[in-house]
Amino acid sequence: MSDEEHNIHDFDIALICEYFSSMDRQGPGSQEATIKALSFIDNIHEKSNIVDLGCGTGGQTIVLAQNTPGNITGIDLFPGFIDKLNDNAQKLNLQSRVKGVIGSMDKLDFQSNELDLIWSEGAIYNIGFEKGMNYWNEFLKKGGYVAVTEASWFTEERPKEIFDFWNEAYPEIDTIPNKIAQMQKAGYVVMASFILPEICWIDNFFVPEITAQKIFLDKYKGNKSAEEFVKYEKHGAELYNKYKEYYGYVFYIGKKI
Ligand code: SAH
Repeated sequence: MSDEEHNIHDFDIALICEYFSSMDRQGPGSQEATIKALSFIDNIHEKSNIVDLGCGTGGQTIVLAQNTPGNITGIDLFPGFIDKLNDNAQKLNLQSRVKGVIGSMDKLDFQSNELDLIWSEGAIYNIGFEKGMNYWNEFLKKGGYVAVTEASWFTEERPKEIFDFWNEAYPEIDTIPNKIAQMQKAGYVVMASFILPEICWIDNFFVPEITAQKIFLDKYKGNKSAEEFVKYEKHGAELYNKYKEYYGYVFYIGKKI
């Protein structure tokens, strides 16, 4: 890697969070994909305890609330995201069932066997898929569900350029069968897995990112770190367009057995 190139771990977390604050979602996804994943999950009722880990500004948290009767706790490290979730829940009159709290997905303040459903879109990578699947399992009731999206390879082999990019960003990216095997080892039966359609990346993430980049660069004109971050994000979008047949986000839905 040359001096001019960066990887995601070089950037200031507060700056990254500010960049994403103006967006409705902070990763690829869609309302339709969230609802499709929910269709593999049963036994959710008014008393169900649902958590959404790494909820960001809560795009999918609100969709969960609108499509299930349960109580939902959205958890994220970044206070600005949690404020936005709580504001939106209030505006939609969902505040009695939806609460955003600041916290970390690897230090959960729940009892063993307390939760009915653990949701996490585009966020388990922060602690690693295998660690997350194992750690979260103890908090679920027997028969409870986990549903996450995770970057995954679609092929056994891939071009070096995209392999190197992901190896820097998230070396735990793996093939779908290997992810499913990890879930099974962690104590889940895998109910479904499906690939997020391209629209989840392009229309719902990269296109809104262009506006976020304008807002951000106006504010941080001349700030080298901010400019480099935007460059990194643009590079990520270019690589997706070039190599999208080799990787994407996959929804994995498992049931604790
Ligand atoms: N689920 C949202 C956000 C995905 S981005 C969406 O799909 O739009 C990943 C999120 O994980 C960010 O909001 C980031 O602040 C959060 N995050 C990172 N590390 C975390 C941790 N250890 N615990 C909880 N949230 C974390």
